[in-house]
Amino acid sequence: MTRPQVGDRLADRLSRRRWLAVGASAVCAGILGNARPAAAAEAARKAAEAALQERSQQNRSPQSQVEGTPKEGSMPWIDAHAHVWSDDVARWPLAGQQTVADLKPRQFLPEALLELARQEGVGRVVLIQHSVYHLGDNRYLIDCTRRFPGRFAVLGMVDDRQPQAAEKLRSLHEQGVRGLRITPRIHGPRWLEGEGMASLWQTAAQTGQVMGCLIDPEHLPQLDAMCQRFPQTRVVIDHMARLGADGTIRPADVAQLCRLARHRHVAVKISAFYALGKKQPPYDDLLPLIRRVLDAFGPARCMWASDAPYQVQPPHTYAASISLIRDRLEGLSAGDRQWLLARTAEEFFFTA
Ligand SMILES: [Zn+2]
Repeated sequence: MTRPQVGDRLADRLSRRRWLAVGASAVCAGILGNARPAAAAEAARKAAEAALQERSQQNRSPQSQVEGTPKEGSMPWIDAHAHVWSDDVARWPLAGQQTVADLKPRQFLPEALLELARQEGVGRVVLIQHSVYHLGDNRYLIDCTRRFPGRFAVLGMVDDRQPQAAEKLRSLHEQGVRGLRITPRIHGPRWLEGEGMASLWQTAAQTGQVMGCLIDPEHLPQLDAMCQRFPQTRVVIDHMARLGADGTIRPADVAQLCRLARHRHVAVKISAFYALGKKQPPYDDLLPLIRRVLDAFGPARCMWASDAPYQVQPPHTYAASISLIRDRLEGLSAGDRQWLLARTAEEFFFTA
């Protein structure tokens, strides 16, 4: 399958200018604590009203759970990142010497995920291969996509140090896998080096598959260099590069993340709020960071995600996660909110 020109379409449809017009005052207010100019405040108020109206319309007919056509019904949103696993380890073996005792929680099944999602109007979810439990064995997630047609997209894993990594990626593409999770947690600081990794990026540029990066801020310069080397490869950075995972959001890290916006095929998951900043619902301390990322990348390259089941361990909830973007992020137009909660993820994971 040839690679769709998603980036070109994105550039055409990118609503960044509109976001800047509506959201600039919110950005300043968030970062600097300044009062908003009256006109911009009025625009932000109107956008918030429009979003509210849109939400109340979407919240009608909550019982209509339509299999296979969630985006047409009462579940318009997409969660761009969650994990599922089964405690049936005889059927779905764990990597290495792990046993059921290593699974925390013991299991998180697709049925449970879809039910949590349904309650918040989320009809589709991108399943991310678990980099510890299942490593390079992608069978469980592929099985989930077959059991629940139209509900899931999958990012798998391939070991770039093993022979024929690119062929494995192509084979996964044929099985509906939309990209790969890559992370320095597997092979350490030289995670992006070597012929295998280069062949994966090259192949992904041809197939339209996405490189989903689980990284910390310290890895951003390496990723930046890789994006320069493979400018046609689509990249999605998990959890805003885990900025603030140690409790401190550093301006230099924010600037480094935002610098990657100059690569037109790079997008960011706005996610894993349980793990960032103060790590307390409703996560309002993360709003200034989210506004900075939105300002740099534009809504068409930002996507909300939960990171369930980690996001649903008390006191954290699925509802608190989506609520931060759906209800608490001021200054977004209804259209921009659509990008953040559905359209960007659809472009990257459900249309390739
Ligand atoms: Zn995750």
